[in-house]
Amino acid sequence: MSLRLYNTFSKHEEEFTPLKAGEVSMYTCGPTVYGRPHIGNYSSFLMADLLRRWLEVGHGYSVTHVKNITDVGHLIADGDTGEDKIEKQAKTEKTDPLAIAKRYTEQYLEDEKVLNMKEPSERPRATFYIKDMLAIIRTLLAKGNAYETDDGFYFSVGTFSAYGKLSGNTLDKLDAGSRIAVDEAKKHPADFALWKKCTGKNGHHLLRWSFQSGERTKTEGEDPNSGFPGWHIECSAMSSRLLGQEIDIHTGGEDNIFPHHECEIAQSESANGHQFVRFWLHKRRIDLAGEKMSKSLGNVLSVPTVLEKGYSPLDLRYYLLSVHYRTNLKFSWKGMDDARDSRRSICEWMERGGEPASEMTKKLPSVSSADIQKFDADFSSAMDTDLNVSGALAAVHNCMHKTNASIMADLKASSALQEFIEKIRDTFGCFDPEAEVAVPAAVQELVSARGAARSNKDFKESDRLRDEIHKMGYEVRDEKSEQKIKKL
Ligand SMILES: [Zn+2]
Repeated sequence: MSLRLYNTFSKHEEEFTPLKAGEVSMYTCGPTVYGRPHIGNYSSFLMADLLRRWLEVGHGYSVTHVKNITDVGHLIADGDTGEDKIEKQAKTEKTDPLAIAKRYTEQYLEDEKVLNMKEPSERPRATFYIKDMLAIIRTLLAKGNAYETDDGFYFSVGTFSAYGKLSGNTLDKLDAGSRIAVDEAKKHPADFALWKKCTGKNGHHLLRWSFQSGERTKTEGEDPNSGFPGWHIECSAMSSRLLGQEIDIHTGGEDNIFPHHECEIAQSESANGHQFVRFWLHKRRIDLAGEKMSKSLGNVLSVPTVLEKGYSPLDLRYYLLSVHYRTNLKFSWKGMDDARDSRRSICEWMERGGEPASEMTKKLPSVSSADIQKFDADFSSAMDTDLNVSGALAAVHNCMHKTNASIMADLKASSALQEFIEKIRDTFGCFDPEAEVAVPAAVQELVSARGAARSNKDFKESDRLRDEIHKMGYEVRDEKSEQKIKKL
């Protein structure tokens, strides 16, 4: 069956086929590393992870997935004025912006790892692609799509008649509205910065590059246009450098549609003279207590906050993925509990490998390979319908209920079930027995100490450590020479 995806651009579900047979190019707008990303940010990255997995598992595509890290140029309120988010945080923490970017990049990568996200093909950092950004800016200047002002270089939206085609914020609507503050030096209020000069009022002194050479500069002087890039140009540059000028899929959160993605389209298509992205996919936001979860509103939950309450990171992964990406997820602890219970019952079923639950009596009906293949087909057809996870999970639950109350007809049925289980595991990434062992370092230390005690045949100490581990919410079992850890 063919894969259908909802394209924000056309506002329709469309059949997806990649530009190059068998290969998919995909770009995901990654985080701006000025604080630990919250679970709303991760829900967007998880949607991209699920899509990438389904392209691979369900269709056998080879996916080149690029996911950037923004470490400069993202200004407060996504605008053209005001402070750089990372520099502002550096002032608050009394350190330099590179230290801030490093610290929060590390936290971000830690969170992605425990959430079992697949490593992207590339994780470009904006500060390493300044020359690529400058090359696009020069092309835009040469083509008359950009102009210079006292404080920077701007894209002229009036030169791109398709502006607004993604978000619906066309120029006539923007003219009438008041979404954008009027800056006297701009030709149109919606014109956006490609490059900001480090003149006094921009106050961006620590991270700056020569406009001429693209090299880092430390002092003002030799190049009066020294400065830093605008946030939008970063993604256009990294995307075209690593994936080519036209790509199959670009993902992000719904907040990215405007202005970020609208501006990416305007500058990339003006510079290249052809289409930039074929499919735009956007994840709806997460609400917490009836409000949008956002750092600026201060109502955010981080991954560690959720884990401190005793959930496995995979419970969180399951919860965030179990609601369709185009539906607002209303986060609640009750929802978290339900997700944990549901995920764990699926894991237990998978571990039994189709054996009915122990309390079942004899004389059960048998289940055939054709029955299993039907559930498998239902799962795939739901995933192919714009990643309909509710439908896919319903197929999993139906198969679970059926096999829990049946015995396998023959070996063929057992192997069809194993195949289906592998497909579910690889698609969702929540039911992986190895990933289960994402245990905190403190528990891991006790487990190592227990291993040492056992090698020394100090069974009293080994039992004491087992109790300690138990108190921390983990169960350790001895299987052959290995210790297996399980969250209680
Ligand atoms: Zn981006």
